[in-house]
Amino acid sequence: MIALHVLDTGRVQIHRRQVDPHPRDRLRLPATLLDRRWTDWLSVWSFAIEHPEGVVVVDAGQDPDLVKPLWDVYLRHAVRFDVGEGDRQATRLRNAGLDAGAVRYHVFTHLHVDHVGTGPLPGATVVLNADEWRAGTARGARLRGYMRPGIHDPETVEGDHDLYGDGTIRLIATPGHTAGHQSVLVTPPEGPRILITGDAVYSEAALLSRTIDGVAVAPDRSRASIDRLRGLCAEAPTVVAPTHEPAAARRIADRLVTSV
Ligand SMILES: [Zn+2]
Repeated sequence: MIALHVLDTGRVQIHRRQVDPHPRDRLRLPATLLDRRWTDWLSVWSFAIEHPEGVVVVDAGQDPDLVKPLWDVYLRHAVRFDVGEGDRQATRLRNAGLDAGAVRYHVFTHLHVDHVGTGPLPGATVVLNADEWRAGTARGARLRGYMRPGIHDPETVEGDHDLYGDGTIRLIATPGHTAGHQSVLVTPPEGPRILITGDAVYSEAALLSRTIDGVAVAPDRSRASIDRLRGLCAEAPTVVAPTHEPAAARRIADRLVTSV
């Protein structure tokens, strides 16, 4: 039995240029920071997957108590959060009937602020892509937006990884948004697959139009990762679930597969 739960861990607004980037790659980041227009409120989904060998949680959402340092231009000027007590991941897990203390693996798509939350669930083994951990522990990592609250000794994987060895939960290396971003492909015994894209794409529309974002560290790798995700959607019926797309929860509930 594989069951997937969508956990609502708050809402976020970002500058429009972050989702609809400047056409010249090297101007994407400055254009994102300088834009004064905001997106609508976007979701910050995280996910829990019930598996016979143990519950797997993907990402941690946003920490309601985050303090934005004065020097962090991006956090202070280019992102707004609406996250309350009820959005804490432990609360959302409890509401889903799951025990936060009994999660076996806590997988992180990447080390950005709205994905690492307050850090891993106690007792869970953290699973990260090796390139993400290298980038996240390099000198100056925090300046580049990598955060690792409470993450000390993760299990790191190089490239793709079949978490339980049975093909039901596969980590797919999708670098570009960050150095070692990974997506998660969930294959239940029946019904379509669910592709948790993290921030490899912000929306199904971005996947279809091959639109990278305004902050991706490696634009060419980001485009290649989107093509990889498109390939997964083409090989079998797959529901696309980006972290920041409000429609993703409904798409999963209604099993709306993505046609590329
Ligand atoms: Zn991100």
